[in-house]
Amino acid sequence: MKMTKKKLLGHLKELDLDAEQRAAVVCAIVGHSRIINICLGQVTCSRCDEILGDTLAGVYDIKDKVIVGHNCNDCKMNYAQLTWRDKLYAPDPFAEEKNENQENSKSA
Ligand SMILES: [Zn+2]
Ligand SMILES: [Zn+2]
Repeated sequence: MKMTKKKLLGHLKELDLDAEQRAAVVCAIVGHSRIINICLGQVTCSRCDEILGDTLAGVYDIKDKVIVGHNCNDCKMNYAQLTWRDKLYAPDPFAEEKNENQENSKSA
């Protein structure tokens, strides 16, 4: 049985999940997003935050992945290949950087 976006959203509707649980369920059903975060070589899924691999140890291949905040041509080309399975509930990897001024409101 092929999981379609419509079917998946239908399932999610029936379950009463918070955003974190929902992301984990989506990844469990359709696989991790190809939109990823990399911090100190450690690769995490941008949707569910699960650790997927380690680029420093060479155990993760990022050649078809889109790195959040990277904004390079490779990432943009890879993004064009992504499907709803990658994009659903995942962050926009090319979002503008957050306004630094918002940092000030934190300490208030
Ligand atoms: Zn995931
Ligand atoms: Zn890139």
